[in-house]
Amino acid sequence: MESYKTDIVIIGAGPVGLFAVFQAGMLGMKCHVVDALPDLGGQCSALYPEKPIYDIPSRPMVTGGDLIERLQAQAAPFDPQYHLGQQVQGLEQQGDEWVVTTSSNINIVTKVVIIAAGAGAFVPNRPPLQDIESFEDQSVFYVVRDKSKFAGKNIMIAGGGDSAVDWALALFDTAKTVRIVHRRDKFRAMPESLNLMQNLAANNPNKFQILTPYQLSQLHGDNGQLRAVSIETMDGDCQTIDTDYLIPLYGLKPELGPIASWNLDINGNAIAVRQSTCETSKSGIYAVGDIASYDHKLKLILSGFSEVASACHHAYGYVFPNKALHFEYSTSKGVS
Ligand code: FAD
Repeated sequence: MESYKTDIVIIGAGPVGLFAVFQAGMLGMKCHVVDALPDLGGQCSALYPEKPIYDIPSRPMVTGGDLIERLQAQAAPFDPQYHLGQQVQGLEQQGDEWVVTTSSNINIVTKVVIIAAGAGAFVPNRPPLQDIESFEDQSVFYVVRDKSKFAGKNIMIAGGGDSAVDWALALFDTAKTVRIVHRRDKFRAMPESLNLMQNLAANNPNKFQILTPYQLSQLHGDNGQLRAVSIETMDGDCQTIDTDYLIPLYGLKPELGPIASWNLDINGNAIAVRQSTCETSKSGIYAVGDIASYDHKLKLILSGFSEVASACHHAYGYVFPNKALHFEYSTSKGVS
């Protein structure tokens, strides 16, 4: 188990979590940031990187992706340590500190925790197949991290959106065979990618196949290793296809997950906080951004930015109990 010690652990690297690094840094507090997704940016990167946002003060228009790039740059001088692709699972009190544990067996002792977890961790939509958990991370993957793993193998990709089509194309050179399975004849992907995919299938019928309108129906294999996958149409027409690796790409859904079991005051799918400080029902634990709940809460990025400033100024007292906080403007203080 890897272990660290820090001033603040930020759960969630969405826009609000990233701005928390900056606000904490301006007050001299060091941060570790954990996110379940492999990339920074929360909803902005995962759901709408190319969409324009019009209500960020001083930016008449900024795309989700560009906003995240700027927030990352703004946080960079404070040298945050990012732990991506892992969910925070445990939060336990140890004296006047907190111990945060992640799904990758990282353990961080911290004085303060800021929960900036949006609607929860983004987790992949799982196909409803019997026993799929026993194949996950061995021969069923919801993200592709290393293409070389699939070299010379029979791959089945399931889904009809951009990621399914893009990964089917990207794995064509590496894999022995690629089959893309979708329950409709029409895909929801970029027209250029669709043309490319149709050409590959027409010119390489033994290596690249588009199988529609099929749904996954059964997995076959032992000890986590797939041998074949059965697919079927609505009319019950069934095929069983030799498959080494299955990659279902059905999008992401937010899940409050372990946060729900930390004994914080929960209000629906959000954490109740005192609005003036964003402190939760437990001392030293703050909630900001979409996951924070108080009367008339607006789930907007700019509300999250302001909440982070209040939370960090209040958290200073836990991190430096023997120091008085002298409020300073950034114009006088500079970035340090
Ligand atoms: P998020 O962006 O949701 O990030 C939370 C992060 O926490 C996620 O990455 C998640 O994986 C991670 N996480 C959660 N639980 C855990 C855990 N246990 N362990 C590890 N990681 C965890 N807002 C505006 O202000 N203006 C707009 O124009 C606008 N347009 C939008 C358009 C769309 C299509 C959508 C979907 C949203 C839009 N929003 C807009 C809303 C805005 O994106 C959210 O308010 C904002 O993303 C909230 O930021 P956040 O940092 O609180 O949470």
